[in-house]
This record gives sequence, C-alpha cells and structure tokens, in this order.
Amino acid sequence: MSKEHAYRNIKLCTKDCLCLFVCPTGATNNETGQIDFSKCIGCGACAAACPSRAITMLPNVMPAIQPKNKEVLAKIDELINKKINEIKILKYLLEKSNEEEQKLFKALIHSNTVILEDLFRESEYMIPQSNKSIELLNKLKSNPEIENTVIQLLEKFSNQ
Ligand code: SF4
Ligand code: SF4
Repeated sequence: MSKEHAYRNIKLCTKDCLCLFVCPTGATNNETGQIDFSKCIGCGACAAACPSRAITMLPNVMPAIQPKNKEVLAKIDELINKKINEIKILKYLLEKSNEEEQKLFKALIHSNTVILEDLFRESEYMIPQSNKSIELLNKLKSNPEIENTVIQLLEKFSNQ
C-alpha cells in the first residue's frame, strides 16, 4: 500500500479537470471537491498533471512530532488566550462602529486571526495526532452536540 495520498487545495484549483483524466481509480472525481482518500492509491499522477499545483501528495501518517520546550509552549498558550480575547473585543467594536471604522476593525480582526492560526500551529493544536490536539478533543468530548464527531476523531488520531 502507498505511503502517500493526494490532497487537493480547492482555493488553487482552476477546474480544468486534467486530474480527472489521469487518475486510474476515479478518486479525483468526487462530489465534495475533495479527493476520495479511500480510493487513492498514491500514484501521484494527478499532482504531476495539475497545471495549478493544486494537488499535493501527503504522507498517510505524519512523522513524529519533535519535542518542544515546555516554557515556550506555555508562553504560546498565554498568547493564544490573549489573541482570542483581542479578537472578541475587535468583533464587539466592529458591531458598534460606523462604515469607515469597520474597515480598520475588519483588517485588525484579519491580521489577528492570521497570528492566532500561526500560534495554534506552533503550539501543535493544528497537528491532528499531537498530544495537544488529543487533549483538546478529550475536553470537547463532554459537549453533547459534538460528542460523536469528537469520538470518531479521537479513534482516528489515536490509531495513527
Ligand atoms: S488538474 Fe488541478 S486545477 Fe485541474 S481540476 Fe484537477 S486539481 Fe483542479
Ligand atoms: S494519487 Fe493517483 S490514485 Fe490518488 S487521486 Fe491522484 S491520480 Fe488518483
């Protein structure tokens, strides 16, 4: 079995459909716009054919995460909470502001969100099988509305 599968970045896809012609299994022809991982055999033909570089070959199992300094991670967590609060305040101000001021608040929300995403990435929350993600999912498990989804994700990531 291949160690890789194809992933399509919808934002880059220009829908010229070359990947549909070259895929031997029909994995690229999926109603969701995403490549069907269950059919993908990892041959890489779609990625090589895509003129928009919209398809990337990704490993089925991500490499082990390198350990990080605990103090640095604690600082990043602190910053994450600060950024979340800042974004909440900016959203509140956005609602209360006039049209001209809204441009500024929208720009600030956007830039803070980009920083927040980077902080999440650095703190390993965005690596699905990391201890941080598993810890977060375990916390979310008690929410009845998303319980089933969380349990399925935990099963998937814990088995990798
Ligand atoms: S070949 Fe690339 S650009 Fe064309 S449909 Fe496939 S993913 Fe999209
Ligand atoms: S890697 Fe091969 S099997 Fe997988 S989607 Fe691309 S062309 Fe199809």
